[in-house]
Amino acid sequence: MVSEKDLSLKTPQWCPGCGHYGFLTALKKAIAELNWDPTSILLVSGIGCSGRISYYVKVYGFHTLHGRPIPAALAAKLVNPKLNVIAVSGDGDAFALGMSHFIHAARRNPDITYVVLNNMIYGLTTGQVSPTSLKGMKTKTTPRGNVERPVNAIKLAMMAGATFVARGFSGDIAQLVELTKMALQHKGFSYLEVLSPCVTFNRVATYQWFREHIINVDKLDDYDPTDYPKVMSFLSRLKEDEYPTGLIYINKEEKTLREHIVPGYETPIPELDLEVKNYRKRYEELFREFE
Ligand code: SF4
Ligand code: MG
Repeated sequence: MVSEKDLSLKTPQWCPGCGHYGFLTALKKAIAELNWDPTSILLVSGIGCSGRISYYVKVYGFHTLHGRPIPAALAAKLVNPKLNVIAVSGDGDAFALGMSHFIHAARRNPDITYVVLNNMIYGLTTGQVSPTSLKGMKTKTTPRGNVERPVNAIKLAMMAGATFVARGFSGDIAQLVELTKMALQHKGFSYLEVLSPCVTFNRVATYQWFREHIINVDKLDDYDPTDYPKVMSFLSRLKEDEYPTGLIYINKEEKTLREHIVPGYETPIPELDLEVKNYRKRYEELFREFE
């Protein structure tokens, strides 16, 4: 007989209608359409409702500490570049405890995908204000309304140097599948944010609210996601409650972190026995370059 605990590790325990189901569906579809071997994938998650996702996909999973999916994912990818590494956070996990990891990962360009399921609230702990909560939003910890401006993670990712920036919406699975496939295939740090309503504790940022505030750049004729200055100019002209979705920015030219620091970068470190000397030498050269 399957125990209740076992069942909770296999069947999603999210509330009916939670936006996270949308990303779970998109992720499974993307992996299937890319025909990726499940044993080549590591799914790392943090703490929060979103953190459950590493139990719900039949790939390698690592449910790590609050705010720390990026360091765990980055380490795994550096050691074994053959792994396809995906890290998932919620907005609290990513932009409260995990904020500095996000910025440093974006500027280092490790070849991992980072997905943030943004519902603009702490869902697991039953409805406290989060770093992406809307200004004025009433929550359990802001009964008179949130006085802080929400983190704009798209602009932040751009400023920090992310080489792939996209945003999807749980209410548009078709677009989310395409964006997920692009993010997974990108060579470098791919940031994919998903507007993912918390139907239980966020009564403001609902599916309908998002539909009314989304600007889908994939449908704009003159939008060029490869033109950094134009993308920044476009983002700076948006109002605070306008949420661009689609492929916002892509740069395929930058080297990844591992390409910079590890010779024979296709080889997992445990298989690099004979190259350990070179590896040390490359580090020494690298440090000399900065002296
Ligand atoms: Fe989803 Fe919110 Fe329920 Fe958590 S509390 S499972 S985020 S709807
Ligand atoms: Mg949240």
